[in-house]
Amino acid sequence: MTPVESFRSKAVALFGLGGSGLATALALAEGGARVIVWDDSPAAIAKAESKGLQAADLRLADWSAFSALVLSPGVPLTHPEPHWSVKLAQKAGIEVIGDVELYCRERLRLAPDAPFIAITGTNGKSTTTALIAHLLRHAGKDVALGGNIGTPILDLPPPSLTRYHVIEMSSYQIDLTPSLQPSVGVLLNITPDHIDRHGTMEHYASVKERLVKAADKVVIGVDDPFTEAAAVRLDHTGKPIVRISLQETLGAGIHVRGREIFAWRGHGRKLADLTGIPALRGDHNAQNAAAALATCLALGIDERVLQAGLSSFPGLAHRMEPVGRAGKAWLVNDSKATNADSTEKALLSFEEGLFWIAGGKAKEGGITSLAPLFPRVAKAYLIGAAEAEFAATLEGRVPYQRCGTLETAVAAAAADANASKFSDPVILLSPSCASFDQYPNFEVRGDHFRNLARQLAGFSES
Ligand code: ADP
Repeated sequence: MTPVESFRSKAVALFGLGGSGLATALALAEGGARVIVWDDSPAAIAKAESKGLQAADLRLADWSAFSALVLSPGVPLTHPEPHWSVKLAQKAGIEVIGDVELYCRERLRLAPDAPFIAITGTNGKSTTTALIAHLLRHAGKDVALGGNIGTPILDLPPPSLTRYHVIEMSSYQIDLTPSLQPSVGVLLNITPDHIDRHGTMEHYASVKERLVKAADKVVIGVDDPFTEAAAVRLDHTGKPIVRISLQETLGAGIHVRGREIFAWRGHGRKLADLTGIPALRGDHNAQNAAAALATCLALGIDERVLQAGLSSFPGLAHRMEPVGRAGKAWLVNDSKATNADSTEKALLSFEEGLFWIAGGKAKEGGITSLAPLFPRVAKAYLIGAAEAEFAATLEGRVPYQRCGTLETAVAAAAADANASKFSDPVILLSPSCASFDQYPNFEVRGDHFRNLARQLAGFSES
């Protein structure tokens, strides 16, 4: 844990006890603050109280006593409208901040030069964050990995000059971190998402840009108009910037060509080759890998250890996760793909012989945007509430079977894939749907797929 000393002897209101909220409250209490916590869920409040925290309905509290409101990133700060706790804090004239802000203040107090790598982007945050952490560990560094992925930042050990904090940040967290100043800021890409929470695309993009604007060194993907424009604005600041592109050869920066990654400065110098690394399949992962390499180089990591680090990256569960083989068929768990954009990346990663399991609670537009990739699919297996809609989209274009459940889909796909003409068929769970019609979340759905795969005849892990 990182005790938060910056509010010692002060009263702090904290709203939102799910996820990182509880860890934050405990870190504040450990550092000597008087924290008053609240949440909409009585169970979350009871849990906090069982840990010795003081809970009180903040609607009835005397806000003039508080020095700050610490808000969970899941609670609306600005859109669609500020949460009532935010309005009360604003009325009382106190700051509204999040857990990463508390970490930043501790870092400033304890070790202002402690390595702090912050990663954001619309897509690829978790993969890139995990990959940077993996490469740094491979290079022998002490790494604290967390933030929006895995461990809440204040549950990690305190900042120190020899510890690398590698922190994934959502736009909500950036919004709650006014003193954010990472040693390296990584911005991967910006595409429309979460506009409901940010009002406009411009506001969403400007929040993401703040992470790199504030960084000492910048790594930035420039393959979409928003990040490209942000990079031009950053050029004027004079700070070190490394651009990442898959599309064009940059004057200077990191360029991806096929599976190879080059450092470009006048001429190309090959940094790494992603061929045969299962956890880094697809162009999207080449962008993530390029950003991770650029970050390590910016931190002064020896270039010679990076290729071996990439090759041993195990990948993240539920994101194109290789599960094993049943007979001649590979099974791949991409349960995190809850929309067509994510499934597009998965379909692009395999040229043919795809036995694709899709369905669940459909998003607007369904899978219509994937039509150009349908020729790669040998057969589709449909599950969940989206079955009829997806069947209508596939009709006459791709053979499909309405399976209802994942059990039926996995069994049917395994039988068909093994009987097929393909030498390396792939059974891919990439649902293009939320899981809520049949599962509590995408993790449980992916775990179920993995378990079903393991029960197939002739299953082996590799
Ligand atoms: P995030 O943490 O930003 O949600 P993840 O690393 O968990 O991202 O990846 C989630 C999904 O997003 C992946 O399964 C893939 O479909 C897609 N994705 C990953 N990296 C990228 C990228 N660089 N560009 C576009 N899409 C990506």
